[in-house]
Amino acid sequence: MPIYEYKVTEGEKGCAHCVERFEIIQSLSDDKLTVCPECGAPVVKQISAPSVGGSKAAFDDRAKAAGFSKLKKLGKGEYEKQY
Ligand SMILES: [Zn+2]
Repeated sequence: MPIYEYKVTEGEKGCAHCVERFEIIQSLSDDKLTVCPECGAPVVKQISAPSVGGSKAAFDDRAKAAGFSKLKKLGKGEYEKQY
């Protein structure tokens, strides 16, 4: 069964359980978790980092493919466009 990661919604206090990402195993037929099972704070599903090929280079490739530019900070207010 897939494991989903959730974290308390930005700006919500949450509890020790949900203030950091927590994992929950849900079957596909289960409803998406919307609140922390411990404290009831609203939670958001996290995008799981791919376990394979999740290197920074791969990320750059994806960003490039998606049309994002990567800017390297050279100094105060100065950026070099890397691609
Ligand atoms: Zn919580």
